[in-house]
Amino acid sequence: MTAEILDGKTLAADIRAELAKKIATMPGENMPVLAVVLVGENEASKIYVRNKKKAAAEIGIGCEVVELSDTIGEKALLEIISELNMNHHVNGIIVQLPLPKHINTLNVLSAISPEKDVDGFNPYNAGLLACKEPKAIVSATPKGVLKLLQKTGVDLQGKHAVVVGRSNIVGRPAAMLLLNNDCTVSIAHSKTKNLKELVLQADILVVACGCPKLIKKDWIKDGAIVIDVGINRVDGKLYGDVDFEEVVEKASYITPVPGGVGPMTVAMLLENTYEAALRQQSETKHSKTGCSCENCHC
Ligand code: NDP
Repeated sequence: MTAEILDGKTLAADIRAELAKKIATMPGENMPVLAVVLVGENEASKIYVRNKKKAAAEIGIGCEVVELSDTIGEKALLEIISELNMNHHVNGIIVQLPLPKHINTLNVLSAISPEKDVDGFNPYNAGLLACKEPKAIVSATPKGVLKLLQKTGVDLQGKHAVVVGRSNIVGRPAAMLLLNNDCTVSIAHSKTKNLKELVLQADILVVACGCPKLIKKDWIKDGAIVIDVGINRVDGKLYGDVDFEEVVEKASYITPVPGGVGPMTVAMLLENTYEAALRQQSETKHSKTGCSCENCHC
C-alpha cells in the first residue's frame, strides 16, 4: 500500500481563499484585527511572526505586532495584554512563545481575554475544550490536524487514536479534540512504556514529540492515518517525527513535512481570528439592542 498524501498546503490555501472572500464582504470598520505580542529577539519567533503577519494581510486581516524588549518585566507585559483586551479594534491576541525565562508563561496566557485568545492557549479555553463546549477557541495546530483528518472522509467514530506528545499547545488539545469527535484516545509521552506496541494499535496516529523520524514503518498498523506534527531541523533540512519514506508504504493517508500540518496551523489561526471578530461584533450588536437571544438576526 502507498499512502495518499494529505496536502496541507493546498487545503490551507483553499481555507484562506474562503476566508478572504468572507472578509471582503465585511464593512471596513469590522475587518478583523490580530495583535501579536513578540518579546525578545528569538530569530525563529521573528520568522513565525513575519509569516503570520503576511498571511493575515493577504486575506484582509489587520495585524499589529507589538515588539517588546526581552528585559520587559511580567507586570509590564500583563499591562500591555490588559490594554489589548480593552482595545475594541483588536479581535484576537496572541503571544509568541517561548517567552523569556523570567516571565511566567501561564500567567501571561491566562491574562488574555478568553474571547480574544485566538491561539486557544488560555486555560479557560483549554477547559472549555475539555468540557466539549462548542464555544471553546481551539488552538490552531490541533484544529488543523482535525481538518486534515476530516479531509480524508474517514468516519472518526470509534477509531483508536494514539497521540504521541502531551504538550499544552499540541498533544493535549489534539487528544481532547479527537475524544470530542468520538475517537477512543490514548496519549503517549516520554515516559510511556512500549511505545511501539501502543502505536501499532493506532487507526489514527498523531505525532507531536519533536523527535526526528522516531516513528518507523514496523510501528504502523496497515492502513492507519498518520498525521505528523513534528518540525525538526537537522543539518538545515526539515524532518517530521515520522520516517515519511518508510511509513508512506504502510499508512492509508499521511501528511508530509513540510507541507502538511504547518500551513494548516497558520490558516486555523486566521480562521480563529475571523470567527472571534464575528462573535465580538454580534455580541456588541446584541448588547446595543438589549437583545438576549442567542442566534437572532436583530
Ligand atoms: P514539546 O517539547 O512541548 O512536547 C513534546 C512532547 O513529546 C512531550 O509531551 C514529551 O513528553 C513527548 N516526547 C518527547 N520525546 C518523546 C519520545 N521519545 N517518545 C514519546 N513521547 C515523547 O513540543 P510541542 O508539543 O510544542 O511540539 C512537538 C513537535 O511539533 C515539535 O517538533 C514542534 O516543532 C512541532 N510543532 C509543529 C507545529 C506545526 O504547526 N506543524 C506547531 C507546534 C509544534 P513529556 O511530556 O514526558 O516530556
